[in-house]
Amino acid sequence: MALVPFDDRDGLIWMDGAMVPWRDAKLHVLSHGLHYASGVFEGERAYSGHIFKLREHTERLIASGRILGFEIPWSAEQIDAACREVLTANNLTDAYVRPIAWRGTEQLSVSAQQTKIHLAIACWAWPNLFGADRMKGVRLGMAPWKRPHPETAPTASKAAGLYMIGTLSKHAAEAAGFDDALMLDWRGRVSEATGANIFFVMDGEIHTPTPDCFLDGITRRTVMSIARRNQMKVIERAIELEELPRATEVFLSGTAAEVTPVREIAGQTYTPGPITETLLREYDGLVRMTPAEVSSRAA
Ligand code: PMP
Repeated sequence: MALVPFDDRDGLIWMDGAMVPWRDAKLHVLSHGLHYASGVFEGERAYSGHIFKLREHTERLIASGRILGFEIPWSAEQIDAACREVLTANNLTDAYVRPIAWRGTEQLSVSAQQTKIHLAIACWAWPNLFGADRMKGVRLGMAPWKRPHPETAPTASKAAGLYMIGTLSKHAAEAAGFDDALMLDWRGRVSEATGANIFFVMDGEIHTPTPDCFLDGITRRTVMSIARRNQMKVIERAIELEELPRATEVFLSGTAAEVTPVREIAGQTYTPGPITETLLREYDGLVRMTPAEVSSRAA
């Protein structure tokens, strides 16, 4: 399938309050966000016309901006409404939604106090990459880069700059024939993949690293609550690389990745199993419920 470039498509992008034709949604080359990575973004998925956990994503976007020292000039209500509007404007019901906020062109130096904050929201069709073959699982290589100490980078923010080591790690993994990379943290402990959190089944229980220097994913928290609802034990803790051979199932969680089984980590193989399959199916069911169904289920 020919790749349609992201700057040359039909459709509309919400940009600073206006719905702009896709090809005209441009910014100046001297934007602070481009030079100094002063940008934060979100990745959301809409299912059957509803954006799953929209408010949580919007709140994380606002919080990510605050961690980088800026205030997005729109309220959570306005951002939620804009995300829904862009979905409708593009006639999409099942799609990936990408809000991004960045510092503008008023000042181009390390100091950026005078810059205006911009917000754009795009959406496009992006089905699960693994489709019907998803239960076969993906292969992870070991990342050459480590997740930094929270005093080295603003690790709680979904900040564009943090994806520099993600892209480098993903490219290294792809060059070695893997699908993605397992990243360790600055201590050498297991952290996550380049754009998804990771879980291990050990002795029938679910273990996942404590998110103290990487994103505590919205999907991660959702999967943990689905597991607990299904009487599965979930343990958040520090996980060492040496423990990986003990795992009987491994899977990733993320808005784009959803629940994706892992079948190999750098030569160590795993067979996607019943716990992963249950969580994958339950997650797929939950995201397709209407907000009213979700809240009546929670009651
Ligand atoms: N870690 C990283 C680095 C990510 O990019 C993502 C995707 N946003 C996640 C974890 C999973 O987060 P979420 O479940 O909120 O999408």
